Amino acid sequence: MKKDRQRVDVLVIGGGVVGCAILRELARYSARVVLLEHNPDICEGTSKSNSAIVHTGFDASPGTLEARLLAEARELWPQVIEHLHIPYLQTGALLIATSDEELAMLTNEIIPKAERNGVTLSTLTREEILENAPYINSAILGGALVEGEGIIDPFWTTRAYCENAVLNGAQVFTGESVVGMSVEENSIAVHSSGDKTFAASLVVNAAGLWSDEVARLVGDDSFTLTPRKGQFIVVEEDYGVSQIILPIPNRISKGILVTPIIFGGVMLGPTAEDVREKSDLATTSEGLQQIRQGIAKLVPAMADAASVRQFAGLRAVSSTGEYIIRPSTASERLLHVAGIRSTGLSASPAIGRYVGDLARDQLGLVLREHFVEELPEYLSETHANEGDVICLCRSITRGEILAALRSPLPPQTLDGLKRRTGAMLGDCQGNICMPRLMQLFQQQRGCDPLALNKNYDGSSPVVARVAGKEGE
Ligand SMILES: Cc1cc2nc3c(=O)[nH]c(=O)nc-3n(C[C@H](O)[C@H](O)[C@H](O)COP(=O)(O)OP(=O)(O)OC[C@H]3O[C@@H](n4cnc5c(N)ncnc54)[C@H](O)[C@@H]3O)c2cc1C
Repeated sequence: MKKDRQRVDVLVIGGGVVGCAILRELARYSARVVLLEHNPDICEGTSKSNSAIVHTGFDASPGTLEARLLAEARELWPQVIEHLHIPYLQTGALLIATSDEELAMLTNEIIPKAERNGVTLSTLTREEILENAPYINSAILGGALVEGEGIIDPFWTTRAYCENAVLNGAQVFTGESVVGMSVEENSIAVHSSGDKTFAASLVVNAAGLWSDEVARLVGDDSFTLTPRKGQFIVVEEDYGVSQIILPIPNRISKGILVTPIIFGGVMLGPTAEDVREKSDLATTSEGLQQIRQGIAKLVPAMADAASVRQFAGLRAVSSTGEYIIRPSTASERLLHVAGIRSTGLSASPAIGRYVGDLARDQLGLVLREHFVEELPEYLSETHANEGDVICLCRSITRGEILAALRSPLPPQTLDGLKRRTGAMLGDCQGNICMPRLMQLFQQQRGCDPLALNKNYDGSSPVVARVAGKEGE
């Protein structure tokens, strides 16, 4: 039997921060737009595992598309944050030089490069730094302040882009992997793991680390992507650190940093390790040791800080060394948005706008009459009888949990609920509140606790139902 084929104008592959930012821009047009995401929820790839910094792009290579989009994003962020109610804090970043070579690099390379990127750095003496930040390594020789750097919640950002698009008519299918594509005369046929078929006038390949494999589905092997792992340690105590603390960056990465987390606590890391597998998210004792050594150079007291959690993310390093935003070699109707290595969160508003403009020009799209720019603040809507605290570590109420479960793009997993509300992110990591969260999940979404996964298939924290206890 012939499967139903849905005709769409634009189909986005990948529900990371890049795909969702693009979806929001596409939703401005009078067009049928859909997004397919392989995982059970959006933002389960690299977009959930990063330093969560909105970079100014001070150290981007001048003249590149990445530098241009980071500069454009600096202009767009204030509106995006306001309209989508994204928690954001412009903390500034302190660049610390601990040797004569690093100090020379700061003066001769980093500051002039920043100026070419339109970002002004203020140089600071050792004394000025230590006066304001006495926790910094007293052996430093000097540094600089990058005032425009800030911290954000990457999941909130991705969800907000996506929900705003959905409220403006875009469709999102999670748990649907693109497994086949074929180029047709006026469209690209896209086949998903859930047996859906679409005929799309334009397909946007925003599949992160897997974008090269998506390209290969139509015989395009014009680029490859390799994973570069970054491990992190999360600590609850902030040791007074209220700014991002950066070492002098090296040629491979920005180095190991201290980054305050927008909802509390601090992240230490990341490492930069080239690995073989695109699924290798393991933390290792060597990696964690390397982080602690790096932190000892910046904030010595933090080097032995107690960790509440460790995790890793994978950067998509492209064979071209640059953002790849261009049509496929196989068809003009497939647009790659790939190799968005270390700055995709920061550049996302501008990547979305850039790709939206390309789609508009290619398909002759016109703006819809009513695009709702602003996302309702439903996550903070609680009712008087829903004020009891469920997550004791982070003081999250039942009302906040229910609001997330009733939202336009509700969580499908416990991790999805965690990232929407902050519940289970504190000291106890869910040990106390998880049973009540599962109960609310069941009440609101009719989800059997045995089938409710932590994240991926088969990751339910409940092993079995005790006979005779059903419904208690
Ligand atoms: C250690 C580390 C630190 C970083 N720090 C920062 C930072 O501080 N600031 C910053 O701006 N950037 C940072 N980045 C970079 C940033 O996280 C990435 O640039 C960004 O998340 C890339 O987003 P994406 O949407 O391209 O990829 P992803 O988030 O990986 O999304 C791609 C999605 O595509 C889906 N997908 C794949 N194949 C298919 C398929 N066949 N069908 C359907 N869906 C598919 C995946 O499941 C995934 O959800 C960091 C990255 C790392 C690893």
